[in-house]
Amino acid sequence: MSRNSADVVVIGAGVVGASVAFELARAGCKNVVLIEKATPAAGSTGRCGAGVRQQFGTRHNCILAREAVRIFEKMDEYLDYRPGVEFRQSGYLMVAYSDHEWNQFKKNVELERSLDIDVKTLTPEEARGIVPFLSLDRLVGATFCQEDGHANPFHTTFAYVQAARRLGVEVQTHTSVIGIETSSDRIQAVVTDKGRISTNTVVNCAGARSGEIASMAGIDLPVYGERHQILITEPVNACMGPMVISFHHDFYCQQTPHGSFIMGVGMPGEPKSFNIRSSVEFLDEMARKLVTILPPLAELRVVRQWAGLYDRSPDAQPILGECPPVHGFYNANGFSGHGFMLAPIVGVLLSELILTGKTSIPISMLDAGRFARGELVLEPTVVG
Ligand SMILES: Cc1cc2nc3c(=O)[nH]c(=O)nc-3n(C[C@H](O)[C@H](O)[C@H](O)COP(=O)(O)OP(=O)(O)OC[C@H]3O[C@@H](n4cnc5c(N)ncnc54)[C@H](O)[C@@H]3O)c2cc1C
Repeated sequence: MSRNSADVVVIGAGVVGASVAFELARAGCKNVVLIEKATPAAGSTGRCGAGVRQQFGTRHNCILAREAVRIFEKMDEYLDYRPGVEFRQSGYLMVAYSDHEWNQFKKNVELERSLDIDVKTLTPEEARGIVPFLSLDRLVGATFCQEDGHANPFHTTFAYVQAARRLGVEVQTHTSVIGIETSSDRIQAVVTDKGRISTNTVVNCAGARSGEIASMAGIDLPVYGERHQILITEPVNACMGPMVISFHHDFYCQQTPHGSFIMGVGMPGEPKSFNIRSSVEFLDEMARKLVTILPPLAELRVVRQWAGLYDRSPDAQPILGECPPVHGFYNANGFSGHGFMLAPIVGVLLSELILTGKTSIPISMLDAGRFARGELVLEPTVVG
């Protein structure tokens, strides 16, 4: 029979919720319940590009990503996961197409190096030494970090869920959260379509649906869904190591370990919605950008295209931490396209915050209160 009380209830078994539940149990929290309305990785996690990078323009993002990479590097042993999460450090090549962008990249590199992230600037010709078929047309420069990379989002989530279960976390799949009970601004219970779980602590890891979960506790959380599309090609011999990413073109492209290319572009004017249908316009836009940046790849045949949701916050930065005025309601959402790469460290930090009231890396600037205070966090280096 399922538990009817818990020390902590984590809502959503994407990579973030799975990481939070595991880290809570690892830190000694005895009674953790992870609730998922479908199956693990059924949300954005199972639809994402699963790139992992440390090249950012803000100090907190560089540090969070650097620490996440440290966990990815040891994840198979850390989570005792035999199939492996397929983390490959094949690098990220970030390409600049204007002087403005190039100046920002150079500032980023200075910041990243000051934080022990091993990044270099490259001339267009040097960038071509890394990706021989990169077009030099209008390319101003590039930056490269070999330690960035890519993992398998399904294996990563399953690895966390299995490790959490071994530590005693109860994972309730095919179970929807339909209500949250509060009294005197304290969490009292989570209500699901299968029953009621009394608890004083909830972690909202419901991805693009996080606003709905928050509203159940009477909280107005400005997280919304935004469709992003992606495709995968037929597999070919290994010919491109790093993820190639252009903010100017809203474009990214990566060859997976089995040879297929995964790639996506941002589509202008995408409305707030939960729409995850694919469109033919995306294929057009993708092809147009691909021939501009990596021309020979235009020959590849597309095997499948799909769409998923970014869990967008107003400043495209994560929302982490307790959410006054409701004590015991924590957020780990609003990742806006970077939740996969940050999930390992977010699990550690949320667990620290819930169990000790402190975090080993400062995250208070990412609290939900920043929107009301007008203290938006501006990260210059994001796609879409
Ligand atoms: C096309 C695309 C490409 C991307 N590429 C990258 C990338 O390269 N790198 C990167 O870091 N990020 C990327 N992202 C973003 C990444 O997918 C997300 O930030 C990340 O997966 C968020 O994980 P999550 O666990 O918070 O959310 P999700 O994986 O969405 O998990 C939330 C879970 O909550 C469950 N849920 C919702 N409501 C309820 C309820 N009422 N009751 C119970 N369960 C509920 C859902 O079923 C879901 O499983 C990409 C996203 C897309 C769409």
